[in-house]
Amino acid sequence: MAGTVNNRKQVVVVGAGIGGLTAAADLAVRGWRVTLVERHAQVGGKMRQLAVGPAQIAAGPTVLTLRDVFDDLFAQAGESLDEHVQLQPLDVLARHAWPDGSQLDLYADARRSAQAIAELAGPAEALGFEKFLSYARGIWQTVEGPFVRGQRPTPLSILRSHGLRAAPMLARIDSRRSMWQALGGFFADRRLRQLFGRYATYTGCSPFLAPATLNLVAWVEASGVWQVQGGIWNLAGALLGLMQRHGGVLRCGQGVARILTDGGRASGVELEDGEILRADAVVFGGDASALAEGLLGPAVSRAVAGVEPEGRSLSALTWCLHTQTSGFALHHHNVFFGPDYPEEFEAIFRRSELPETPTVYVCAQDRGEGQQPQGPERLLVLVNAPAVGDRRGGVPEAELRACQERTWRHLEALGLTLHADGAAVRTGPAEFEGLFPASGGALYGAANHSWSASLQRPGAQTQVPGLYLVGGTAHPGAGVPMAALSGRLAAQALAGD
Ligand SMILES: Cc1cc2nc3c(=O)[nH]c(=O)nc-3n(C[C@H](O)[C@H](O)[C@H](O)COP(=O)(O)OP(=O)(O)OC[C@H]3O[C@@H](n4cnc5c(N)ncnc54)[C@H](O)[C@@H]3O)c2cc1C
Repeated sequence: MAGTVNNRKQVVVVGAGIGGLTAAADLAVRGWRVTLVERHAQVGGKMRQLAVGPAQIAAGPTVLTLRDVFDDLFAQAGESLDEHVQLQPLDVLARHAWPDGSQLDLYADARRSAQAIAELAGPAEALGFEKFLSYARGIWQTVEGPFVRGQRPTPLSILRSHGLRAAPMLARIDSRRSMWQALGGFFADRRLRQLFGRYATYTGCSPFLAPATLNLVAWVEASGVWQVQGGIWNLAGALLGLMQRHGGVLRCGQGVARILTDGGRASGVELEDGEILRADAVVFGGDASALAEGLLGPAVSRAVAGVEPEGRSLSALTWCLHTQTSGFALHHHNVFFGPDYPEEFEAIFRRSELPETPTVYVCAQDRGEGQQPQGPERLLVLVNAPAVGDRRGGVPEAELRACQERTWRHLEALGLTLHADGAAVRTGPAEFEGLFPASGGALYGAANHSWSASLQRPGAQTQVPGLYLVGGTAHPGAGVPMAALSGRLAAQALAGD
């Protein structure tokens, strides 16, 4: 074959997000000759760092769960992840604050969480938490093997492999009611419903529309959150290093203009400067909609179905700041809830507007176990936003500024003052669309707002033989470990094919 050298097959991986990096590393370890092509100057995709004054600030993912996904990949290569990147488990998973002045920390130790919940809302709610956690664990255990860590199933394949067991399995994953409805069965206290409902946003969804199955995220987070020493981007660096130690080649700052086909089969790529890279297979790690919209050429536009604007997941409005803070004892992960959660999601998903008083996530990157900054600190401030980055005119500048003012006022009302006189870098839906074309700024692909949505996500294999899809818009879904799993599934499918 054209790309085969020394009997080793050649693969081009397009996009060095976590899915692309993982697929590239996995394939290199399996003995493929890998070329990883990334348009931007850095690897990591959404896991990017921004320079704000003298500081490097994580501008994308900050909550790292399911480290075993990465441990397994390095172990398969005969290495240990710990040799390349230091991960520290957090005792305090997140600090939460509400407009009524109350606060709650969730801990890695579920008993401490239950105790904190009892102090906040009484013993009945603490009991509700214990029941909720065991329910969330049940959902996770049901879907983990057959769904999350396996190739994307179809309703038919589920029936085939599980037969009569499919019906009780469907009942166990609680897919017919919304997360919010299910949470009402465990918690009378609205604050707790809000806290656990917020996990819907980890996959870009509304807790009022997402199936209760997504309550499994609470179990995943309770199973451990890790802080990456030196910055989460070091994880992307570790994956890149693994690929390079196995002969993979990175071509950064070079975009792929077209995926080439030969007799209907993916046969390489054409770079934006016209250079052709031939290959036996191509793995695409950008947004799946970029294929469907023809951004990679007409030959692969039917490879997967695109996502209609109304089916998109959340975007975000973020600010990276290097600033002094006062008034609130920040931890590493902090959530400042808005007063009206239903209205927040109505604004975003029904009216495509920025919320009036948003729930605000603040990642204080110089804080964590035993860390206390002296002077200015590195912050990522994030509010959820509609994925309208490709709408004509975008979100008007005045609205973006007004949202920032409301966000700062809301934080102030809950006790946190940002003395943001220093530099800040703002990223909104339009910038996310620019960085990740065809997404509209949606950060998690299609929203999982129906029980069957996760079965409709594209899998690793596409309609074009030899072309594979990875990343947060593919199965099993968005988030760092999920995107990494998609990379592993694509490597597995490719090796099998
Ligand atoms: C602000 C923010 C906060 C988040 N918080 C969390 C969190 O706390 N925890 C968590 O687990 N997840 C979080 N996520 C989600 C998580 O970051 C993503 O799901 C995951 O990183 C997506 O990885 P990916 O493989 O889809 O690749 P992406 O990150 O989407 O990267 C795709 C890459 O492909 C490249 N590319 C695309 N097209 C081409 C082309 N034609 N030629 C060359 N290169 C191309 C792009 O330049 C990009 O680098 C967050 C995301 C954001 C943006």
